[in-house]
Amino acid sequence: MNRKKMSKTIMQRDFKSTFDNIGNGRQRPRKHGRWAGLAVVGLGLFGTASLLFTNTDAEATRSTGSSQPVTIPKTATPEIDTALLALEPQTSKRITLSLALPSNSAPAVIPSDAVTTSLSGQSANVETKTNWQTETVRSGDSLARIFSRRHISPQQLDKLMRSGGDNTRILKRIMPGQTLKFAIKDGELQQLVYEIDRLNTLYVQREGEGFAARTITRDLETRITNVSGTISSSLFLAGMDAGLSDNLIMELAGIFGWDVDFALDIRTGDHFTLLYEEKYLDGEKLRDGNILAAEFNNRGKTFRALRYTDANGRSDYYSPNGNSMRKAFIRTPVDFTRISSRFGNRFHPTLKKRKNHHGVDYAAPRGTPIKAAGDGKVVHIGRKGGYGKTVIIQHGGKYSTLYAHMSNYNRKLHRGSRVRQGQTIGYVGSTGRSTGPHLHYEFRINGVHRNPLTVKLPTAAPIQAKYRADFLAKTRVLVSQLDMLTDTIVAANEHTK
Ligand SMILES: [Zn+2]
Repeated sequence: MNRKKMSKTIMQRDFKSTFDNIGNGRQRPRKHGRWAGLAVVGLGLFGTASLLFTNTDAEATRSTGSSQPVTIPKTATPEIDTALLALEPQTSKRITLSLALPSNSAPAVIPSDAVTTSLSGQSANVETKTNWQTETVRSGDSLARIFSRRHISPQQLDKLMRSGGDNTRILKRIMPGQTLKFAIKDGELQQLVYEIDRLNTLYVQREGEGFAARTITRDLETRITNVSGTISSSLFLAGMDAGLSDNLIMELAGIFGWDVDFALDIRTGDHFTLLYEEKYLDGEKLRDGNILAAEFNNRGKTFRALRYTDANGRSDYYSPNGNSMRKAFIRTPVDFTRISSRFGNRFHPTLKKRKNHHGVDYAAPRGTPIKAAGDGKVVHIGRKGGYGKTVIIQHGGKYSTLYAHMSNYNRKLHRGSRVRQGQTIGYVGSTGRSTGPHLHYEFRINGVHRNPLTVKLPTAAPIQAKYRADFLAKTRVLVSQLDMLTDTIVAANEHTK
């Protein structure tokens, strides 16, 4: 792995925006009973036992709980399907419902009686006489051309496009190599199945004088993986050793970035454990999902975060007692990836004892992005004596932060600009009285300088009272899993001493 290249891609990311991007991207199967019969439902129950998988390698442990899909026969009645689908909202993400849809490799799935009966909902005679035909889209094909090859009248195509609405518009963009399946009876199109991509399939069926169309999205299978790592040089290397993607490492850092200064606070022996989702389709991993629970142990102090989604679908991370992980200020006002890469022989900043020094210095390469520690308003942007190029941000009435020795400002900012937490406000430099490129950072409360490394920061609102019982109930299992995983790590560490 090319470490340099990787850290560059990490640096180019804005970790705040990565963190903001934790929306629930999960797609759910549609629940309409009429269509439910389409689904050959596989119910994958996550094996909890596999979560407890332990590994004595304390450096990086990893295990994946995989689901074991139970395939219900294609003749499953709609009632059973509906019951399974109805289960879904109450249960955690560990139950995966998958829809078995047609694919090139298994075309037999679609022209089955399950599809025919459910699409029409009534006619058994259609089922027996339907003639399914498969058409592979050729170069230069349009739906009109394919219809004419299949001897389906242009009027039917017209009707299909008009009555299918938004769903059938995609048929104008069919691509060579894709497959369309037609059910034709007496020259009349009865049904059409179009596999848009691996996840989405369009189903069209005759309904009275027109056609009804629906796009069905397959649900990805979710597996939950746990990973632990101990930091010997940097969070990134430990995360990579544990097999985490750089995205996931950034998310982990984002979750704890209000409590831990990843530039200055990290020490050898710090360790982390996380439980996160991986999204699979047909046994192949497509991407990472969300971090569900995580623990970060920094210099003997343990922080835990649990993901919770409230009834409005809003997801966020909370400590086990329900406090928000978010704070009004992030701990590290500079892109810490640039600093942690110099771990070992890096500059150890201190609150300097010399007179008139009231801040923390972060040594970092010239040009390293500097971030607003919190939401606020720019009250100063410009040169300021020995500070050189300086930005001061006012955060409400009480707090202000100062960033000095910049090489350049974010060109869009001016006095009075509103800035968001994590937004880049400028770049590390060496302007003013400075011996080398670094960020000089000051934190003031009511005009009085405070040590930004130790100051107690205001927190965001805790979990709403009305969600508290639900939060505790839903996160209990995550907490006990973290307990077991971290107990194992502690035991393994002690064993090796
Ligand atoms: Zn300084």
